[in-house]
Amino acid sequence: MSGARKVILPSRYIQGQGVISQLGAHVKQHGSKPFAVGGRTGFVKVKARIQASLLQAGVPLAGYDDTVTECTYAKINELVAKVEELEADILIGCGGGKAVDTAKAVSEKLQLPVISIPTQCATNADQMADAVIFSDDHKFLEDLYLSQAPVLVLVDTEVVARAPPRYLVQGMGDALACGFEKPAYAEAQRLKKAPVLATTAALEVNLRCFQTLMTHGIQAKKDVEAGKITDAVEAIVEAIKLQSGFGFGGDGCAAAHAVHNGLTIVPGLARKHGEIVAFGTLVHMILEKRSMGEIERVMRWCMAIGLPTRLEDLGKLDMSYLPKAAEKACDPKDSMSNMPFDVSPGMVLDAMYEVDRMAKAIR
Ligand SMILES: [Zn+2]
Repeated sequence: MSGARKVILPSRYIQGQGVISQLGAHVKQHGSKPFAVGGRTGFVKVKARIQASLLQAGVPLAGYDDTVTECTYAKINELVAKVEELEADILIGCGGGKAVDTAKAVSEKLQLPVISIPTQCATNADQMADAVIFSDDHKFLEDLYLSQAPVLVLVDTEVVARAPPRYLVQGMGDALACGFEKPAYAEAQRLKKAPVLATTAALEVNLRCFQTLMTHGIQAKKDVEAGKITDAVEAIVEAIKLQSGFGFGGDGCAAAHAVHNGLTIVPGLARKHGEIVAFGTLVHMILEKRSMGEIERVMRWCMAIGLPTRLEDLGKLDMSYLPKAAEKACDPKDSMSNMPFDVSPGMVLDAMYEVDRMAKAIR
């Protein structure tokens, strides 16, 4: 028997200016006592609008916690107890990845529906059926896979496009990877005769996501910097928030994220997740022996929006750690094993230097 095609998706995705006002009507379909989870900076931006919409629909907040700084088991357990005590019946996660992941993990423990309201565009965590768990001292612990995706992802462009432009750039860097990682993952799964296979739908959406980034990314960054919410901005927000998550569909990282994970051990690394993943994507393309023209096109796009292409763009790296980073990227437990061919630490190290050399040459 061949493997099963699988994808986990949110039930609803709504994106546009002012859509937070629709929240109450949607909450009402799933519960009557909502509990909101957020971080301090994100939640305060939407709190008044959320409360107004919920009040209008007759489903006011049963409670909220706006102190999430990290998605940890300690915080998740604390919130599970709070939500149970208040007998809340639906979770609302507001903010960046950490707040939203915490809300999703709490909803999983209690088997309650969850709604995501992102306040910026640096991640696509809002719609994914997973939560990235950290230890109390901010170290990555595990990627917790959840049985369900949110029942609603409410992306108010009025909110996310007014966040600092660097978030949009980081989100584009992260989304860039899926056009390369998912096809590699799909091919590896097929070769391994794995029990779970990628869907054609996810692969197609990933390609579309990549095209959207290449077509509208540079303009969208300019528009957001100018405080304008244009068609290019809406297209890029959809690429990050819907397409890259849909294309990921629950699984599908490969070399780009493995290189990111490896680089996180290098002292001096000063970039955020999506930015490091963009560099990892270029390394991924070298590993796949993509044509120079194709790599140069993506590299020029990265340069135009401020994503790192040279090693020095990643920070004041302690270069003596690069071989260790390449080794970590090839950890058998990491997503490098989702490449359809064997990748050695030596290949990763060479590819990192090759990206750096190319970027210096075309600059
Ligand atoms: Zn990522």
